[in-house]
Amino acid sequence: ASEVVLLHAAVAALAQALGDAEPELSALDRRVGDGDLGINLARGAAAVRAAGERLAGLPDPAAYLRALSEVLRREIGGTSGPLYSTLVLGLAESLRGVPHPGPQEWAEAAAHGVARVRRVGGAAPGDSTMVDALVPGVAALAAAAGPRERLAAAAAAARAGAEATAALTPSLGRSSYLGERAVGVPDPGAVAVAIQLEALAAHLG
Ligand code: ADP
Ligand code: MG
Ligand code: MG
Repeated sequence: ASEVVLLHAAVAALAQALGDAEPELSALDRRVGDGDLGINLARGAAAVRAAGERLAGLPDPAAYLRALSEVLRREIGGTSGPLYSTLVLGLAESLRGVPHPGPQEWAEAAAHGVARVRRVGGAAPGDSTMVDALVPGVAALAAAAGPRERLAAAAAAARAGAEATAALTPSLGRSSYLGERAVGVPDPGAVAVAIQLEALAAHLG
């Protein structure tokens, strides 16, 4: 199978996990937000499935990721939509002219995508957002020894980062309206990132 077909299979596994996690993510977002995160992300996942054939036929990872970013921008609502779209567009930018990216190039692309999310959303680690899972996740991706260990390490680091947000007072997004009342609940967007990296690690491991 071509590079893009394999990439789409990994993205489809991630989308499947998001669909499965819809009740969990919506329940978390009901506690500290407006309750739609599970639906927003499941909508994106369904759109990725629907566009599967077209996406998997694109010539290289950069073209695939550019088209995926567009699907996400159109389909995911809320704050998450533009942020995920930006993340994936950042991956595409970084992989332009790299038809066969290796683990190092993927790690660099992921770091670039996360930097874009930080710039667009203005969130830093500690604000209790998805950035608190993304930043340790991409750091682990670049650090671990072999390609297989990398994703497992990234998933574990993202999960730890997501769990740690439960102790934080959110300073951005809807959960910041709750202030200290949100303490004790992990940030839903950070938990969603952990779920996706775990699904990727399970699929590719
Ligand atoms: P909305 O609040 O618009 O309903 P979603 O439910 O789609 O947004 O997404 C909520 C998640 O978005 C939060 O849990 C948090 O992780 C993330 N988030 C919110 N604001 C920002 C931001 N400025 N930068 C990064 N992530 C953010
Ligand atoms: Mg919401
Ligand atoms: Mg909303």
